[in-house]
Amino acid sequence: MNKIRLRFNLVFPMFLMVFVQTAVAAGTTAIVGGTVVDLDGKSPIENAVILVEGERIAAIGKAGSVKIPDGAELIDAKGTWLIPGLMNMHVHLGLVLPGKQSAELANESEAALALRMAAAARESLQAGVTTIRLPGDRAHADLALMRAINKGQADGPRIFSAGEALTITGGHGSKKDGKTNYDGPYELVKAARTQISAGAKWIKILISGGIATDGGDLAAALMTPEEIHAVIDAAHRFGAKVTAHSGSPAATAIAIDAGLDCVEHGYFLDRKTLRKMKERGTWLVPTIVVSQPATQPFFERIGSPPWYLERRNSAGKSHWRALEMAIEEGVNIALGTDQLPAEPNDGATATAREAQYYVEAGMTPLQALRSATIETARLLEAEAEIGSLETGKFADIVAVESDPVKDIKALRNIALVMKGGKVYRNSLEQ
Ligand SMILES: [Zn+2]
Repeated sequence: MNKIRLRFNLVFPMFLMVFVQTAVAAGTTAIVGGTVVDLDGKSPIENAVILVEGERIAAIGKAGSVKIPDGAELIDAKGTWLIPGLMNMHVHLGLVLPGKQSAELANESEAALALRMAAAARESLQAGVTTIRLPGDRAHADLALMRAINKGQADGPRIFSAGEALTITGGHGSKKDGKTNYDGPYELVKAARTQISAGAKWIKILISGGIATDGGDLAAALMTPEEIHAVIDAAHRFGAKVTAHSGSPAATAIAIDAGLDCVEHGYFLDRKTLRKMKERGTWLVPTIVVSQPATQPFFERIGSPPWYLERRNSAGKSHWRALEMAIEEGVNIALGTDQLPAEPNDGATATAREAQYYVEAGMTPLQALRSATIETARLLEAEAEIGSLETGKFADIVAVESDPVKDIKALRNIALVMKGGKVYRNSLEQ
């Protein structure tokens, strides 16, 4: 009898609480007073209301045109510009670069790696980045983290992952400790299917040399056409997309013909290859920060060895020229950094600095903003869910302190970060 009463006493107040919450519009938030930036270049919505119910945007419009339910939580965003959550398409949450850092992390366990990646994911979200694509991490810790974030066990951006990047013997990244190499169409097909069955939505292939390792010439086509064709075909049959680390025009041209979806870096891309990309709708994720002056202090801070800095500088000029030409040719460009999204760069985060470089290379600020939002969503084929502030889409919302369409440096000052209707950062005066 006592036991039953005790249970009743415990349960009753909890039941009452739930009831009270639902009665006053549970999980409803209204962001009021801010200016909603129009990604199509039309006039912004000033003094706007974004009504968020649960995870999604329920309504958006000028004050007065959207009814705010009684009991909704209000966020006063006056004096800020509201944009979709930023997206960064080239992130390795477990990134280890040559030098001091790789020595420190030489014996990192998989458990320690997962925790380090979880911390980097949390910081990315704090920096306003609500979606990331991971083109290659270790031990499938990326896929475990993706699931943990989806279940609410960890805080971080939405993750689209490639699992482990596929490299050939002697190629970029092939000499890292514990790295499996794959040679010939059969091994590559098997490896691609292994990533997909583990949860990868992308496959990343390394078809030329890279900056961060001594695995082959940056501009040489190292993977054979047979290998490239086989792996792209195998991935597409499962609905996965394929992106290629490539500095090389020759390797890129082969891969585009094989149906490649996206090119990473493109250090040495020429106009002919870029035109081919434009024609086929192949995407470019520039990661321009890695080869440009803004990141020099970063590489010095992490103690990069001289050979690394030399390789980086040797690629810098042609990488920049390739980006300028890609913008001129109207190639699809999605923002990616190959650095942690929140990594400090030149007084900004890597993500904000990357966008600023796009403007310096020829984009308008609006184009650069799109490359970090709606364009990236198109690359992911997720534009029905994310990438713009529209009714029905996930409430992934960032407030910045000035107009990013006037000056992209606005992305440096973030005042509010909401992902899926939940606030993760808020420095607005309430
Ligand atoms: Zn990378």
